[in-house]
Amino acid sequence: MRSFLVIGNYAHTEPFKLNDLPGAGRIDILCRCVAQALFISHGIRNYVEVYLLLLGPPNPPKAIKIVGNEVKRMSPDERNIAGHIRKALKKDANKGWSKVHSGVYIANKNLEELLRELSSKYEIYYLHENGEDLHNIAKSIKNPLFVIGDHYGLTQDQEKVTKSFARKVVRVSHISLLAEQCITIVHYLLDRNFIEIKSKPRNF
Ligand code: SAM
Repeated sequence: MRSFLVIGNYAHTEPFKLNDLPGAGRIDILCRCVAQALFISHGIRNYVEVYLLLLGPPNPPKAIKIVGNEVKRMSPDERNIAGHIRKALKKDANKGWSKVHSGVYIANKNLEELLRELSSKYEIYYLHENGEDLHNIAKSIKNPLFVIGDHYGLTQDQEKVTKSFARKVVRVSHISLLAEQCITIVHYLLDRNFIEIKSKPRNF
């Protein structure tokens, strides 16, 4: 398995207008991250899970889980993915995961609760340009979950919590990149070690 957790510090936590994703606390960033994490040409990476942590107004925190192996009727365009997030935000969120529809779940979890849960399933890595070069350790990585910030990055408190669960801080470049670019490079580096890339046909 391979997983990504993207923290949207401003991402709105109530259903938003699909015509203005940047205005909904940069939901567009989260959508592009989902697209890069899940989709390949004519297929879905069925061994990938994506977690989105929405911390904007009015009802934070909202965690959304998208499971590559289960998701249906999702396509790589931002508007389609935003539609799935919007639908999830219409549902009541509790401490446990509630299913919205195939492969999409929502819960009321903060960063620490989420990382505590996920650290029993994944090795946690924090993506930051000051970290160790991922290229050098990619071969030794099994079952990773990469924590990624939004356009402003993680707050100091979020960094502290993330580092307390993380095995390592890793970089994909010395340059500060867009969150979705980091995901693409992570896949590239880890895919090099895959003998066979498993994917399922896209389900529209
Ligand atoms: N000014 C923000 C900061 O200092 O974190 C930039 C945030 S960047 C647009 C979005 C996220 O991508 C960052 O929070 C970090 O997780 C990740 N990131 C950006 N460049 C990276 C790099 N070269 N290596 C690893 N992760 C990176």
